[in-house]
Amino acid sequence: MRDFLLEEEDRAFRLEIRDFLNRELAPRCEAIERNEDWAAVKSVIRVLGNAGYMKLMFKDVYKGSLKHPGLTHATILSEEAAYLNYAFESTIATALSCAYPLHAHAAPKIKERYLTPLLEGNAVGSICMTEPGVGSDSAGMETRIHFDEKAREWVINGLKRYISNSSKADIYIIWGITDSEVSPQKGMTAIVVPADTFGLSFPRNYRFMGRRGCVVGEVTLDNVRVPEENLLGKVNKGFNIMLGAFNFERVILGGAGLGVARSAFDIAKSHAQKRNSFGQKLGQKQLIWDMIAQMSCRINAAELLTYRAAKMYDSGLDGKSLMREASQAKLVSTETAIYCADRTVQILGGDGVTKQFGRAEQIYRDARPLTIVGGSSEMCKYLIAAKEMPEIKPNL
Ligand SMILES: Cc1cc2nc3c(=O)[nH]c(=O)nc-3n(C[C@H](O)[C@H](O)[C@H](O)COP(=O)(O)OP(=O)(O)OC[C@H]3O[C@@H](n4cnc5c(N)ncnc54)[C@H](O)[C@@H]3O)c2cc1C
Repeated sequence: MRDFLLEEEDRAFRLEIRDFLNRELAPRCEAIERNEDWAAVKSVIRVLGNAGYMKLMFKDVYKGSLKHPGLTHATILSEEAAYLNYAFESTIATALSCAYPLHAHAAPKIKERYLTPLLEGNAVGSICMTEPGVGSDSAGMETRIHFDEKAREWVINGLKRYISNSSKADIYIIWGITDSEVSPQKGMTAIVVPADTFGLSFPRNYRFMGRRGCVVGEVTLDNVRVPEENLLGKVNKGFNIMLGAFNFERVILGGAGLGVARSAFDIAKSHAQKRNSFGQKLGQKQLIWDMIAQMSCRINAAELLTYRAAKMYDSGLDGKSLMREASQAKLVSTETAIYCADRTVQILGGDGVTKQFGRAEQIYRDARPLTIVGGSSEMCKYLIAAKEMPEIKPNL
């Protein structure tokens, strides 16, 4: 059943990247989880970039051995990385989410300056949309961007929150309002801001229940000035840039959910086949069979939806033609991750809630934000239902 949608080349890539991550990431996972060791995260990003794996999505710059690199392979990378450590996966997924609009919309000089180091693993990226008053709904964004005609510079003021890789990233893409006379969707612009820009600061990082090692915090922009050429795409078209990356991000998150779900499931299966209870293996009890069967079905469903969406993207579909499928992949896969993490803890009993006996409790904490980030489950359901009922406008 596994890998039903994947070609020979994709399957070989999975083994290659699994081997690579087992060598480079696995030995550092404990330091990442226990000490939130950024140096360990950064060192794996560097080798990943050096090996060309950050370029899988970008066919024009990819120089590796795959004949048809694409989202399928970036999703396999995401799944295999999340299997070992979801915090690390979040860090590289965020860097890729920053690379994606840079690749599509930046001027050649800006690409050379900021995209190249990102894809080579020498820099880390961050994307800044969320604000204290703005999450799922971007209307009401308070960050303001204006163009100083005399200096030929963009001037940015605002506060962003829940920003992954904040304070650690080298490159930030900031969304803000350039025209407050129209709706935010029509008056929003995206600008590239390097980390060392005067006025950019990181007042605090949040403490989260999970994803330890992926830094998430606030980004303050106090009269931040960057040159005219740092504009992404066109003025007032930032909302389209944001929407343009959603399918890609949701499929990648499908991979992340799948990796987290599989890592929990493997622990549950192993425990149920070893642990004795009432004179039999735990795995021989019907109530445990039910949980194992449910996890198995949900993981396979998530896998089919995720790789179907990835394959559709790689065959040239995007935008509205992929919105339902990418949202289905993200919704089912991330809900599956939470389900599997929860059931695994249940099957492990006391061992599931301690830090002494394996990773079940970590996976349980790590899984929870998956249905909130990158378009919550509720937002994904709206997009799916909207496509299914084109004659009704959703009441958001
Ligand atoms: C770990 C983590 C990392 C993040 N990284 C980034 C990042 O790198 N960059 C960035 O810009 N943002 C980031 N975010 C922010 C994330 O995108 C937002 O948290 C998310 O969009 C939800 O916004 P919110 O938290 O403001 O919740 P809200 O939008 O206030 O929503 C709260 C709840 O209400 C539900 N809801 C909202 N509106 C409706 C509706 N109309 N109908 C039904 N239900 C609704 C939501 O689904 C959610 O369950 C991150 C968040 C977390 C937790």
